[in-house]
Amino acid sequence: MKTWRRAIHQHPELGFDEFETSRLVADQLRDCGFEVTAGIATTGVVGTLSWGTDGGKGGPRLGLRADMDALPIHEETGLPWASRNPGRMHACGHDGHTAMLLGAAQVFGRLHREGRLPGSGTLNLIFQPAEELGGGGGAKRMLEEGLFERFPCDAIFAMHNFPGVPTGHFRFRPGPFMASSDKVLIRFDGKGGHGALPHLAADPTLPAAATVLGLQGIVGRNVDPVEMAVVSVGRMSAGKAYNVIPETAELELSVRALRPEVRDRLEQRICELARGQAAAHGVGCDIRYERGYPVLINTAEQVRFATEVARELVGDDKVDGNAPPLSGSEDFAFMLQQVPGCYLLIGNGDNGFAGGEHLGPCSVHNPHYDFNDACLAPGAAFWVALANRFFGG
Ligand SMILES: [Zn+2]
Ligand SMILES: [Zn+2]
Repeated sequence: MKTWRRAIHQHPELGFDEFETSRLVADQLRDCGFEVTAGIATTGVVGTLSWGTDGGKGGPRLGLRADMDALPIHEETGLPWASRNPGRMHACGHDGHTAMLLGAAQVFGRLHREGRLPGSGTLNLIFQPAEELGGGGGAKRMLEEGLFERFPCDAIFAMHNFPGVPTGHFRFRPGPFMASSDKVLIRFDGKGGHGALPHLAADPTLPAAATVLGLQGIVGRNVDPVEMAVVSVGRMSAGKAYNVIPETAELELSVRALRPEVRDRLEQRICELARGQAAAHGVGCDIRYERGYPVLINTAEQVRFATEVARELVGDDKVDGNAPPLSGSEDFAFMLQQVPGCYLLIGNGDNGFAGGEHLGPCSVHNPHYDFNDACLAPGAAFWVALANRFFGG
């Protein structure tokens, strides 16, 4: 697994461009005896193993997902297996997720050959492209190409590494676990003019500024205080010269919530606020509200099941069954809208590097981050134990 992980790490590929990674995955799955379907959502791969009566038909069907894409970041770890593709880096550990699931595939393949898989069933290993791409990510594309019609699953699971938590520790949470993530572009259309003659212009900077201030009032006054909501203004732009009133002013927002109702409420109030400010200042308003990843909602039964498997595997003290939710987002949320399941976290320790030397704690999406190879064994062992229990072993 370490060899695979480091090979993938050296050759990071961006979303929908994971051709080499996808080929490595497909070849390994074939070697393990899986039936392989490649090219789903361009570079996605599904490996299927069926066994037992009627070739697994009628038995339970399990889906395990890994992601394969890298990020447009220039790696600065200085490690021997650092990225050889300048400006591209596995800075979210998807190299590790892929290697862990391939490790599990090898065990399943062997058990299958030896006729030791329990009962009867079908195992689908789903390797998705483009998790990092925002709204139009790889999970959504795979679903649009009929993922669960072609490969029906009764339950699905996915695992992500989590820096700052010791390796071999697991975190679970029933219900909402990761936030929705929406992108909003608001444009105020005014009437430009001379800075000395404001009464002849319609200044779009005023409603823009008032909207920025008003947005936090939405979080503070329109959302139940025990619920989570984030509205961040990432871009605010207008004008080019000090003595010219600009024609337009633009705001770009990142909007996040942990409940679909809160997400809807934020959209409604943000649009009302921006339009209201535009009307008050006599300018036009155009809003492009792009819904990205939905709230990731784990189903209680599958969380209970996966938590039990982890407790049995590594002990109670290394498992948190009620971990705090996160304000980040994840496109496995789309898959969970169709099939019950659980997204879980595995500790990645403090795995930052600079100049090849250990640096200490380091978050994902950082040029000093590296997936911790100490996660590979517990991660793969968890997948094997989970599937074994799922099929009644
Ligand atoms: Zn990421
Ligand atoms: Zn990630």
